[in-house]
Amino acid sequence: MQEPKKRTFIGLLLATLAILCGAGYVIWWIPQVGMRNIHPALPHIFMALVAGVLSFIAFGVILLIITLLRGREIFLAQRLRWVVVKILFPMMVLVGRLFGMSRDAVQQSFIAVNNQLVRSNIHGVKPDRLLILLPHCIQLNDCNIKITGDVHRCKGCGKCGIKDLVAIADRHAIDLSVATGGTLARRIIKEKRPKAIIAVACERDLTSGIVDSYPLPVIGILNQRPFGPCVNTTVEMADVCEALEFLVGLPDEAASGAAAVINA
Ligand code: SF4
Repeated sequence: MQEPKKRTFIGLLLATLAILCGAGYVIWWIPQVGMRNIHPALPHIFMALVAGVLSFIAFGVILLIITLLRGREIFLAQRLRWVVVKILFPMMVLVGRLFGMSRDAVQQSFIAVNNQLVRSNIHGVKPDRLLILLPHCIQLNDCNIKITGDVHRCKGCGKCGIKDLVAIADRHAIDLSVATGGTLARRIIKEKRPKAIIAVACERDLTSGIVDSYPLPVIGILNQRPFGPCVNTTVEMADVCEALEFLVGLPDEAASGAAAVINA
């Protein structure tokens, strides 16, 4: 995982933990008087409860930081991914906003951490249980062939990345689908029932896709937007090949010499 994204994530994690500890203290302190009136032991019981919850979260955060710093063989990776996806990430978006961080930067760090946790926990996916999911904007905007529903309608003119991506998927007999949005993506996943997904999209769509698809393992690859968002986007072909090779365990010849897929 890239170091700046890892540092961003760890910084946000620590800031979130500090804010949670402060909030925990306030939650414990405010109702003190009322509780004491009910029973003198009640404030202590409540304090023990708050401390227990915070200790549990702190343990998860520390474990996550250690494993991210180690960069491999992550202990309890699947459980940690649950903690990251379901609990920490929503809080980290708010904390990031408090510190004036861009949403894209927080989402990029989340995607990078998710990828590392997924990779530490999955190997040897059968090609027919893998799905490559692409955003519609990767198709040339002027191409009027409808490839959602069947990417093989592509005529292979090479003016956008669809041609090469279809070729890679066909070479390994892997399902490749194009989705116009989250609803269609969810329907495709429901129909195809993959064991793992390689998803290409922007920060926002990848993040929501990873969260929505949990516990399905998703390796997210950010698209490139040389013409701005949502039009004629591209993807680094080598990144797709590398993820595919990692999951399926097959080297793809396109990975070695592949350059970015460029929309004409
Ligand atoms: S490669 Fe050519 S035919 Fe295929 S989707 Fe892109 S522009 Fe259309």
